[in-house]
Amino acid sequence: MVEHPKDASSALGNAPQDWHKSLTLATSQSMSEFDFLSGIDAVPPTPILIAPAPVLRQVAREVRAEDMAFLREQLPGMFSAMYKAPGIGLAAPQVGLGMRFALVDVAEEDAPREPMVLINPEIITDSEQMAVREEGCLSLPNQYAEVIRPESIRVRYRDLAGEIIERDADGLLATCIQHEMDHLDGVLFVDHLSTLKRNMIMRRLAKEQKLGRR
Ligand SMILES: [Zn+2]
Repeated sequence: MVEHPKDASSALGNAPQDWHKSLTLATSQSMSEFDFLSGIDAVPPTPILIAPAPVLRQVAREVRAEDMAFLREQLPGMFSAMYKAPGIGLAAPQVGLGMRFALVDVAEEDAPREPMVLINPEIITDSEQMAVREEGCLSLPNQYAEVIRPESIRVRYRDLAGEIIERDADGLLATCIQHEMDHLDGVLFVDHLSTLKRNMIMRRLAKEQKLGRR
């Protein structure tokens, strides 16, 4: 495992007491953070930006405790967009929000949903063992390529209740989390490819978008 030592308290957002305020507010308002998913099919999907939209290349800023109410308002439209696509991950910059959070749900289509919202996520450790997996992206529709990334990771993030969560991920989940976290730094999966391959994909995408294919 490769260590990425960081000061957790500073990197995960501002002072703990601010998060505690938002946590108290949140739990008093809803029993479950994902209640809105029961009616998600009726929610209009938030439009997803397609590369080369400039916001996809920007480094997103940290989510602060006072952003949580706004963030929660964005979730129904974002989950609707991700599930309708269908996709297994969606980062805030993909809907034009320069904030460090992302949605992930790698459950099979006919299985119960396993929604996650990762707020201010950080990779704590990643494996030396690498894995090759074919990736696509809702911001690069119809484009796919094999990407090499660490096979397993430990990620630390805040959940919707403002709690700090650490969890291990491998396989598809590890790939998906790393892909979504890249978006928060303005990185797309094609950036992991050779320049030749990346240019080929970006040209093909531009051509298809011009022809109106989605
Ligand atoms: Zn993506």
